[in-house]
Amino acid sequence: MTQSSALQKNIQKRRTFAIISHPDAGKTTITEKLLLFGNAIQVGGSVKGKKGPHAKSDWMTMEQERGISVTSSVMQFPYKERIVNLLDTPGHEDFSEDTYRTLTAVDSVLMVIDGAKGVEDRTIKLMDVCRLRDTPILSFINKMDRDTRDPIEVMDEIEEVLKISAAPINWPLGNGSHFKGVYNLYTDTIHVYRQGQGAVIPEDEQIKGLDSPDAAALLGDELDDILEEIELVRGATHEFDLEEYLAGRMTPVFFGTALGNFGVREMLDGFVEWAPRPIGRETNDRFVESSDEAFSGFVFKIQANMDPKHRDRIAFMRVCSGVYSKGMKMRHVRLGKDVKVSDAVTFMAGDRESVEEAVAGDIIGLHNHGTIQIGDTFTDGEALKFTGIPHFAPELFRRIRLKDPLKTKALQKGLQQLSEEGSTQVFFPLNNNDIVVGAVGVLQFEVVAYRLKDEYKVEAVYEPINIATARWVECDDAKKFEEFKRKCAENLCIDGGGHLTYLAPTRVNLSLAEERYPEVRFRATREH
Ligand code: GDP
Repeated sequence: MTQSSALQKNIQKRRTFAIISHPDAGKTTITEKLLLFGNAIQVGGSVKGKKGPHAKSDWMTMEQERGISVTSSVMQFPYKERIVNLLDTPGHEDFSEDTYRTLTAVDSVLMVIDGAKGVEDRTIKLMDVCRLRDTPILSFINKMDRDTRDPIEVMDEIEEVLKISAAPINWPLGNGSHFKGVYNLYTDTIHVYRQGQGAVIPEDEQIKGLDSPDAAALLGDELDDILEEIELVRGATHEFDLEEYLAGRMTPVFFGTALGNFGVREMLDGFVEWAPRPIGRETNDRFVESSDEAFSGFVFKIQANMDPKHRDRIAFMRVCSGVYSKGMKMRHVRLGKDVKVSDAVTFMAGDRESVEEAVAGDIIGLHNHGTIQIGDTFTDGEALKFTGIPHFAPELFRRIRLKDPLKTKALQKGLQQLSEEGSTQVFFPLNNNDIVVGAVGVLQFEVVAYRLKDEYKVEAVYEPINIATARWVECDDAKKFEEFKRKCAENLCIDGGGHLTYLAPTRVNLSLAEERYPEVRFRATREH
């Protein structure tokens, strides 16, 4: 095999995805089971606790004390012929910005829905983000071992609320204490559920044919009802269409219980068969195909290093084309500089062939000593910039004040860095010396104060401030823009990235400003 065809083969094995769900739907549990199938971990130990040999910084301790996961990480595992990259997203709502950006680095998502609760708020929001890029979505209706809602109703809800057609691949045979298994509508096979196999890879006990004596024995009194229901399901739901799925218009639906590790294997089998191979990405200049041989990638997340001995941070990069190999030189496009990278973190559990190497679709972690920002592009020399990495207008604001006024410089530096890595947003009003911190969720404020103290030795306190929302402003008409800037100076500030921003005390104020200055664009998101 030539080197180039080996590379193409390697790329085509990749399946890079993230799990989206409302908190508590079972994302963590299903992640554990997926890793179990991928043999990345022997028993489905807690992913959340991340107990391991790595010492944790205080920052991580805080995260653990709160019992929530605020950082995303990458898990790679082989399954069948594929190399699967699973990007973890923080479950807590306050860190949704991180989640949104992680979604720019995947090629498809798995949506986990609690069978008793159906479609919940956060799933709706995350779906909106997936829709921006028509990301293919596979669905898993979880917790069938509990009393759930009528699965037909849940399917209807997916279609109506999430505006995507839903095609059941398998159908649950009962639920709660009557849950007997799932029936594959395409292969006419029942996969039998047995309790108590959650911590292992369960045996796949199959019954061929819904009209077989074994099926009748399994289903007992419920047989007739189930036959009728399946008849109805066949008539009333969509048939799976691969192209529709890949276009983001249809979601194949699987049922099961993550806790019981049942239905997960069927879902994973469907996933590795249908999920898209690495998809190319748009840049300011041209579309980069994942099969392009020249190296390229972009940074979608920056995370405090888990090792407290190193004060640096890890920048997570999605490789979009070509190969990363240890010691290679890459162009940091924004700085116009070539950098030699010999210590990137790769995530290669179980994949011996490609240790120290990563190809399109993979994620690598670069040590960042303050020169890398979210959205940065790296290439083999070409001046490209990947587009579409969002930055959301914060919804919550506080004025930040120093306990020791002599530390202003350190405070500014800390806030600048924390805003570059996306942990918060910082605003400097044009008309006064306040420093305003903005967040998407309230927990972010606490994290910022903690990290300022821990990492920058700055003690700061927050004060309430009367701001309801922020909009990045721009205008093609220089004269009109000057007038706007003069009249609205009270509300204007410069954000951490140097962009002019309008801070509105109320939503009504924002609407009025938008009406009064129709030439000015008020943007709720901006690109990195
Ligand atoms: P996350 O917040 O989405 O990561 O949800 P978790 O995976 O932490 O699950 C939330 C809770 O639901 C935990 O107590 C799990 O043990 C429980 N859980 C997850 N999957 C199932 C399931 O299939 N059946 C039942 N009965 N409980 C589940």
